[in-house]
Amino acid sequence: MSKVNTVLGPIDSSALGRTRMHEHLLFGWPGVDLDPLLDFDKKNVVKTVTEMLLTMKKRGVSTLVDATAITMSRYADLMMTAAEGSGMNVIAATGFPDNMYLPFHFAQMDVDGLAAIMEYEITKGIQNTSAKAGVIKVCTGGGAFAESEEKILRAAARVSKGTGVPIITHTDLGTLGIEQIDIFESEGADLSRIVIGHTCCSSDIKYYLGIIERGAYAGFDRIGYEEFQRDEVRLVAIAGLIVAGYSDRLVLSQDAIMVIREKPCPSASQEEKRLNYLDDEFIPRLRAGGIAPESIERIMTDNPRRIFEGS
Ligand SMILES: [Zn+2]
Repeated sequence: MSKVNTVLGPIDSSALGRTRMHEHLLFGWPGVDLDPLLDFDKKNVVKTVTEMLLTMKKRGVSTLVDATAITMSRYADLMMTAAEGSGMNVIAATGFPDNMYLPFHFAQMDVDGLAAIMEYEITKGIQNTSAKAGVIKVCTGGGAFAESEEKILRAAARVSKGTGVPIITHTDLGTLGIEQIDIFESEGADLSRIVIGHTCCSSDIKYYLGIIERGAYAGFDRIGYEEFQRDEVRLVAIAGLIVAGYSDRLVLSQDAIMVIREKPCPSASQEEKRLNYLDDEFIPRLRAGGIAPESIERIMTDNPRRIFEGS
């Protein structure tokens, strides 16, 4: 058992329950706060997000990891109020976006400077609240690593090693996951506390196995995002990996954004179907294909817990 930081305080890893490892309550591009023409009715957003969390809770989900990085409209107070109002465990991330979206203030820092920020948000809190980060989010874009991305990955690995807090990554369409692992490993991070995100945007079985065989988790965390990958491909891949004995190295999530700053705030009833596609449609299809309920339970409940425990 380990202690896990939720935005309302630490809980035992055994209390996490069914967990979405990569979602977003709110998202906005860096700079959105500086746009005088965009309204931000935070009260209404908190209310909507709370209702959206309740639709997930109704389906047995009890924990949501908010993968929103620093600078992308991540608000600790909003997460705290929504967690309180819904009774869901919400876990906030520290960490940074990829090079394209990284403000220069952070881009010019060295590894120690970036690590100090992550460590502060894990041990002291985010934005002068009592909410402490429970995961580290790092991102790489397409092509080769940018210099800033490599610094952030190194910083994340060192902080994860020191604090035991897991790392969840963003990859560009399921590329560079192996290279991310190389960096984490070179810094001595525990690979069993790492989820290589958006692995399911690739259809390359060797890529999946390359991640899993190193001891990291493969994030099938864009379920329903068909513009990146057909869900048919994801279904076949997940079923194949389970049959091959790798159900203990998979996590499933949607990477769904509940509210987007640049768009009008939708209602929970409008979005209920989209946000719960994983539970309502995708998992039933896995079950119909012959995947045992124990395998689903392992992936949705046991694996997230083990990531926080490092096993
Ligand atoms: Zn995401």
